[in-house]
Amino acid sequence: MAIFSSDLAHSTRRRWTLYAGTLVFLGLFGSWLALDFLHERARTLDEMGRLALHKSQLLSSVFGDAFLSADYVLRDIAGRIDPTQDLTLPADHSNARQRQLHKLLHEKLTTVSGLEDLVLFDHNCVFTAVASRPQLLGFRSQQRFCDSGQVNFSEPLHIQYMPAERSASGQPVVLMSRTLSDDQGRLLGGVIAVMDLGHAQRWIESFSLEPNDLMAIVDNDGIVLARNPPLPAAMGKPTSPPPGYPPFVQMERTTMFWATSPLDHRERIFGLSRLERFPFIAMVGFDKSRILTGWWHRGWQFLIGFAVLGILAVLVLRAHLTVLRHSEAMRRLAITDELTGVANRRQLMETGAAEVARARRYQRPLSVLMVDIDHFKHINDRWGHATGDRVIQVMARLLCDTIRQQDHGGRLGGEEFAAILPETDLAGAQTLAERVRVLAASCVRALNDGDAPVSFTVSIGVAMLDANDEGLESLLQRADRALYQAKADGRNRVAVMAAEASSTAHSGTP
Ligand code: GH3
Ligand code: MG
Ligand code: MG
Repeated sequence: MAIFSSDLAHSTRRRWTLYAGTLVFLGLFGSWLALDFLHERARTLDEMGRLALHKSQLLSSVFGDAFLSADYVLRDIAGRIDPTQDLTLPADHSNARQRQLHKLLHEKLTTVSGLEDLVLFDHNCVFTAVASRPQLLGFRSQQRFCDSGQVNFSEPLHIQYMPAERSASGQPVVLMSRTLSDDQGRLLGGVIAVMDLGHAQRWIESFSLEPNDLMAIVDNDGIVLARNPPLPAAMGKPTSPPPGYPPFVQMERTTMFWATSPLDHRERIFGLSRLERFPFIAMVGFDKSRILTGWWHRGWQFLIGFAVLGILAVLVLRAHLTVLRHSEAMRRLAITDELTGVANRRQLMETGAAEVARARRYQRPLSVLMVDIDHFKHINDRWGHATGDRVIQVMARLLCDTIRQQDHGGRLGGEEFAAILPETDLAGAQTLAERVRVLAASCVRALNDGDAPVSFTVSIGVAMLDANDEGLESLLQRADRALYQAKADGRNRVAVMAAEASSTAHSGTP
């Protein structure tokens, strides 16, 4: 009989199920949060990448407009001059045509902001008319095509970065030239717009940026022409895309990549846009740690929230389990006999009533034993009350250990016990009762303080549920009558309440 050990196992199982359930819930919830955060991080970076790209497109179109305006001026001037006459340097610099050309160039210079100078040059690239610096007349241009004999002038627009040390003004500039050629494709000369990079730098600096973000204009060779925030050391120096990407000149019209700056070692996401008609690239870079600041912030908030939730869940769970344990202990106390630890009368009556109902429903046999220690008063009198208690404990254990797992045994009170035996007919119950009687009679224990062996016997009444029984009570009463008979017949014996006539039969002799 293991009413209480199965209860214990059940409550332990429930406790662990609750712990495991809470743990699994927290684990799943945490994993979902973590996955969502990783997605949000990827989403944030992706969004910022696209924003960098859009900004770089804006930058490239605005920067391109300045070059477009300059090109209009070049086209205009080219259309107004006669290449066969106006592109030779006269001996007299102040003749009428020179003055006219100077005036034309000077007027045009003011029409586009950022233009430093406008210059005409002949087929040898020698300057023949200048808008703002007459001292340059007669000098030879250092543009790339001037030194190369293999230039195809079918594309008349030539753009080139000129570093400070090679520029006539001593400042870094971009030279934009329109060349004029004859029918055979030979160079007749052309007109140059000298673009002031200081102006481009001031212009790019006018954009406000978040800390550690970056904007730059580079040419096809990666030469930095303008940069925000300004960094004089980087100006005019080549920069290159990160490993794995083609050089700038071969890049798609728009590109996005991550790069770590060798200057400040910051990682940035870059959006790059090539200018539509000119060999320049606008770049916008957003600092990764800044982009992710908000994300980290939310991450910490959620982490702390999750930790608090976890702690609260564990606390609530512990409190709940404590209440459960207490109510479990109370319930056990209520159904346990204090002296012996076996089921008490209340528990026996509850389970007995349930077993009677079940036996009735399924038409199965059910028997009960009523057990009473013989001459217990005598044991008390002779060995003392404490020894009597120990005899009761021994008997309780003996009864509960002898019946089967599915049977229910307990103490009704005093030195009386009962056992409810499902699936047991009268013969089976009698056999079991006989075994209990013999075991009790043969149990000689040193239970008293003087260590003298104490022995005792029991009388047992047996009855089986029959159709006449109203319920458990009447079944027990019949078993009690059988017990009374066993006592009357001399004790230490089993008396059976036969079903048909409700008469008793006996077994066992002293
Ligand atoms: P019989 O053979 O007819 O059963 O004789 P008996 O002496 O056992 O009969 P009875 O039922 O009159 O005596 C029971 C005694 O058991 C009376 C009571 O003092 C004693 N008793 C009842 N409960 C306890 C208990 O918890 N501990 C002890 N030590 N004695 C108890
Ligand atoms: Mg009694
Ligand atoms: Mg008795």
